[in-house]
Amino acid sequence: MFTDDNFVFGDQNVQVPAHLNFGKFILDRLRLQKDEVALELGDTREKLTYKEFTQYAVNMSTALTKLGVGRGDIVAVGSEKRNEFVPTVLAIVFTGATYTPYDLKSGRAVLKHKIGLTKPKYFICSKLFWNTYSDILKSFDCIEKFVTLDEGTESVISIRTLITNDADVSKFEPVQVQGQSDIAFILYSSGTTGMPKGVQLTHLNCILNSLPDDFTDESLKTAFLFGEWYHNYDTFMTYKFLCLGRKIVYVNEAEPISFIKSVHDCDVNIAFIVPSFVCYLSKAKEAEKYNLHSLKIIYSRSSPLHNKTIQKVKSRRFIVGFPKVKNILQGYGMTEAGELTSESWGTKGPKSGSVGMASPGITLKVVDLETRKTVGPNQRGEICLRGPVLMKGYIGVPPSNYLDEDGFFKTGDLGYFDEDRYFYIVERLKEIIVYDGYKVAPLELETILQLHPGVREAGVVGKPVKVYGEEPTAFVVKQPGVNVTEKELLDYVAEEVPPFMQLRGGVRFIEEMPRNPRGKIIRQRLREMLK
Ligand code: AMP
Repeated sequence: MFTDDNFVFGDQNVQVPAHLNFGKFILDRLRLQKDEVALELGDTREKLTYKEFTQYAVNMSTALTKLGVGRGDIVAVGSEKRNEFVPTVLAIVFTGATYTPYDLKSGRAVLKHKIGLTKPKYFICSKLFWNTYSDILKSFDCIEKFVTLDEGTESVISIRTLITNDADVSKFEPVQVQGQSDIAFILYSSGTTGMPKGVQLTHLNCILNSLPDDFTDESLKTAFLFGEWYHNYDTFMTYKFLCLGRKIVYVNEAEPISFIKSVHDCDVNIAFIVPSFVCYLSKAKEAEKYNLHSLKIIYSRSSPLHNKTIQKVKSRRFIVGFPKVKNILQGYGMTEAGELTSESWGTKGPKSGSVGMASPGITLKVVDLETRKTVGPNQRGEICLRGPVLMKGYIGVPPSNYLDEDGFFKTGDLGYFDEDRYFYIVERLKEIIVYDGYKVAPLELETILQLHPGVREAGVVGKPVKVYGEEPTAFVVKQPGVNVTEKELLDYVAEEVPPFMQLRGGVRFIEEMPRNPRGKIIRQRLREMLK
C-alpha cells in the first residue's frame, strides 16, 4: 500500500547532490573547512587538523588506486582507534571501492564470521591488529594484499612506502560511482541475537546518514563520541560534524570516566553517548570533581533511557562543577537505516521518554503483531520503515525475510507513537518475557531497578519455568559502598510494577554486567548464567 492514514512521515524534502557520490559529498565539505582541529584523541590530546585529515585521505587514496584498488573491490580496515582511522575509510571510498570495518575487540569467532561473510580483497590493518589476528587473516584466500598503517613486514606493505609525496587536494576527484546501487560501506548489525549480519549501505544511504541539518547550531563546536567507527552511530555522527567543520573528540576506552575527563579537558559541547553513561552521570560522585559546564546537549541512543534518569541528571546541575545541560535528547537508530527518529526533529521540543519524531525522508508505521495491520496513536506494535535511507540489503539474506509485502523493513522493535507523532520504544520483540500469558519488557524492569540507589547496573531476563512460561529474573551490579539485599530490591520493584511484572525469578548479584561495546546488555550471557 503506498499510503495509509497511520503512516508517519519525516520531512519529505530532502536534498542530496545529484552525483550521489559519498566520497565527493564529504570531500567537497572538507575542502571548505578552515585549518582547525578535526579529530582529537581525548586521552593523549593528539590532534589531526582538517588540512592534515584531507591531505592524508587524498594521499592514501591515490596510493590505493596505484595498488589496484577500484570500484567493485572490498577493502577491510582492522585497527584500534586512532586519528588515521576515519581518513583511511574515506580514502577507500574515494577509490570507488567498498569499505568494511573489523573491530579489534570483536574476538576471533566473530572476526572469522565477518571475513567469511564479506570476503575482502584488500586488508588495511594496524600493527596491533596484525599482531593479534595475523593467523586468522592469513587463513583467508580471498585477501590478496595486506597493507599496514604502520611499518611494513615481509607479508604486509606499509602505506608509508606507497605514499611518496603529497597529492594535489584541489585537483583530486573521487572515482565516479552509481550512488543508488554501488555499496560504499558494509557494516554489521549488532548480533545480540545470533551472529552479525552484513549490512550493505549504498553511497546514497551514506549521504543521507551524514546530512548535518539537525546539528547546525554554531555553538556546538566540539562533539564527543566513543570513536567506535565500526558502528553506524559513531561513524555517521562523525561525518555530520566533519561536514560542519567542527571538532570531534573521542577516547581509547569507552568508559564513563574517560568521557567526563574529555568533556572537562576539551570543552565538549555535545556528547553522543549511551544510556548507561547517562545513568552514571545521574549517580556518580566522581563526576562532581570535573568542570563540565561546556556541555549543552547530551544525546543518547542504542537502548532506552528512562525519563527519571534524565530528570536526575538535570537535577544535579546545581552541584558545583556539574553541567548546565540544556537538553538530554534521545535518538533511535540502527545499522540498516541510520537514524529513524530523533528528538532533534521534535516540533514540540523534547518529550519525556520519547525518541523523537521521524527523520527526514523516512516513512514509519507501527503494525499489530498478529494482524500486521497499521495501528494509530498510542497502540503498541512492531515499528517498520521505508525510505531511501534503508540499506540495499543484508549479504546473503533474501529480502522476503526482512521486508513486508509493502516493502517496509521490519525492525523487530516494539513501540508506538503518540498523538503528536513522537515515537517511544518499548523493547526488542525477541527479548519480551512471557509470564503466564502477560508480556513483560525487561527494559522496563531494568530502568526501574537502575533508579534504586543501591543499583549500579541491572539486566533482566526470563527464567524458564513450568506452566507459567518465564519468570522475570534480575542480575544486578551493586553501587559501590551500598549494601543492598535481594529482599529490598524485590520489595522495591513490587511497589513499582503490576503483579505480573514482579521479579518472581529473584535477584542475582554479579560483579560485572556483560555488555557489547555499544553499551547494550548481552542478555544471552545472562540467560546462560541462569542455567
Ligand atoms: P544497531 O544496529 O547496533 O544500531 O542497533 C539497533 C537497535 O538498537 C534497534 O533496532 C533498537 O532495538 C535499539 N535501539 C537503538 N536506539 C534505541 C533507543 N533510543 N531506544 C531503544 N532502543 C534503541
